[in-house]
Amino acid sequence: MPYTSVVDLFKIGLGPSSSHTVGPMRAAALFVAELAERTAFASDLRVRVDLYGSLALTGIGHGTDRAVILGLEGHRPDTIDPSDADRRIAAVRGEHALLLGGSARIAFDPDDAIRWHRSEVLSGHSNGMRVRAVRGEHVVLERTYYSVGGGFVEIEGAARDLRSERAVPHPFGSAADLIGRAAALGCGIDAIVLANEDALRPRAETLAYADRILDTMSACAERGLVTEGVLPGGLNVRRRAPRLHRRYLERSHEPLAMMDYVNAYAMAVNEENAAGGRVVTAPTNGAAGVIPAVLQYYRVFAAAPSREGERRLLFTASAIGALYKANASISGAEVGCQGEVGVACSMAAGGLTAALGGTNEQIENAAEIGMEHSLGMTCDPIGGLVQVPCIERNAVGAMRAIHACRMAMEDAGDHVVSLDRVIAVMYRTGLDMQAAYKETSLGGLAVSVVEC
Ligand code: SF4
Repeated sequence: MPYTSVVDLFKIGLGPSSSHTVGPMRAAALFVAELAERTAFASDLRVRVDLYGSLALTGIGHGTDRAVILGLEGHRPDTIDPSDADRRIAAVRGEHALLLGGSARIAFDPDDAIRWHRSEVLSGHSNGMRVRAVRGEHVVLERTYYSVGGGFVEIEGAARDLRSERAVPHPFGSAADLIGRAAALGCGIDAIVLANEDALRPRAETLAYADRILDTMSACAERGLVTEGVLPGGLNVRRRAPRLHRRYLERSHEPLAMMDYVNAYAMAVNEENAAGGRVVTAPTNGAAGVIPAVLQYYRVFAAAPSREGERRLLFTASAIGALYKANASISGAEVGCQGEVGVACSMAAGGLTAALGGTNEQIENAAEIGMEHSLGMTCDPIGGLVQVPCIERNAVGAMRAIHACRMAMEDAGDHVVSLDRVIAVMYRTGLDMQAAYKETSLGGLAVSVVEC
């Protein structure tokens, strides 16, 4: 089983969706890189992209076409400046041409070259994408990609996952395995993660990456807290985080003011995400606000916060996310929102418990509580936009994570339902869920509101 590292799970990307924006951009860029190995880029090449299933059904609201264009131009989600992205998209749409791999100008009319197959689902995953490059009648390269959630991409016919089979000293396939290894070594879950990461790169690089992720999360929230206006997409959703934050500052003495603070942080991140801004997949873009809000709660409300505690939160959350990635799914298109905000809540609950000095058993308990009360949560974004219910849902998910942590820390960690069991139940529940509730915008809230 491939190891899911901190670097795999927490990726810096662009909003609004890891599966519909970050994944397709990465896939298109991968295609271009492979194409470059096969042929010289010249103006006679033509590229066509076919999108299937959920990618086609909600891709317009999620900016999948924009992501594909940027990826074909060789841009990466972690490095492109969001305003440069807007400029490039306008240029491609205006000129009906793109810079393949950033070098060769080829004809490309997005309305013709990107096709939306809304009633067709490929066998590998509901987020399917096929890219083909031709020169005249000759097919130079054709690849089918699956965007399987959290920005992860799989290639049909290749190793099914772009994560390599990397040897780590403490591989774990279940929470029981993870806790058992930590007990044998007499260490915390975060130390297991760090030891595994040490096998992949020098410790200093891992810590620098973790700090970059923590800082990017904070920067995203800070931008969201001061940016007013209406979100793009046509739903006329007003940004609420700045006002919520101001209200908190006015009445921070009230007993429940902490909730307003956490709500504001989570919503600030997801409003930035909805606007196509820079966010961190945690584990997805749609759920990107939960962990930053819980992180901020730790910084402001914990008795003795520290950078070391923040890292412990992140590494522990990473281990919990890896369990869901290995044994269930983090894709709303595969298992509904329980796989996005539910998983983020579980990760944040366990991570916060670790940061606050909880035992491994309490961490496992907190992560379990976080998911147990997210079971069955559907994905039904209105208009295919990551706005309603997504933005508020992150705030609720963050508060639930804090709640789960506090409940777990009041006990010794013994509980009826294990984390492994709840992960299995989440996956089964997701498979049982009708497609209408799995990021297709064909059911639930998505069909209850008349757009005008
Ligand atoms: S409802 Fe949940 S899973 Fe669906 S797009 Fe929104 S945040 Fe993602």
